[in-house]
Amino acid sequence: LFVVFEGGEGAGKSTQLAALAERLGGQGRDVVVTREPGATGIGQRIRSLVLETAGTEAPSPRAEALLYAADRAHHVATVVRPALVRGAVVISDRYVDSSLAYQGAGRTLPVDEVSWLSSWATGGLKPDLVVLLDVEPHTGLSRVAARTEGPDRLEAESVAFHERVRYAFLDLAANDPKRYLVLDASRPAEEIAGQVARRVDEMLGS
Ligand code: C5P
Repeated sequence: LFVVFEGGEGAGKSTQLAALAERLGGQGRDVVVTREPGATGIGQRIRSLVLETAGTEAPSPRAEALLYAADRAHHVATVVRPALVRGAVVISDRYVDSSLAYQGAGRTLPVDEVSWLSSWATGGLKPDLVVLLDVEPHTGLSRVAARTEGPDRLEAESVAFHERVRYAFLDLAANDPKRYLVLDASRPAEEIAGQVARRVDEMLGS
């Protein structure tokens, strides 16, 4: 089973991902928790290239899309597929939808092209479930601002950028409702975790 958490900045993905992993681990399941960008050695280097460069050093939109695609191709080939093949539950913090939303809607690259690039990178691997933690940008960004490490390059983008990203995620979910669980990220964490747990239990038949 391949489960992906998606959402804007400060949506609480990490908290929910950890809660689900702990629950499934507690049931004695083989669980692999992973993330994009940055789950592998190559991915870590790509993550710092895309997130820690600023101004004239920052990658152009197309270069950025290719860097995320390279991270994803390597991630799928070396982490996600092998884990799925041995029967593990894979839980990823971000996947293809982040590229459609950030590089497509956010950076205004043609979404069909970003989609093609993503399927090429993944060999067409799709998640069984996408949990979309929907957050209004003001709320998410103020949660992020309260963190100690300060904003990364993306978190410093305009509210309009984050609104485009938010609506792109919601559109993707609306177009494939069976694959998505859309949750209001402003609800208490325990309530969200309960909804995720119910859906995943259903899918695992437990
Ligand atoms: O979720 P996390 O904080 O690890 O994401 C790191 C940053 O990378 C976020 O600011 C996110 O907006 C950005 N990102 C992106 N395009 C992707 C994946 C992540 O712009 N495809």
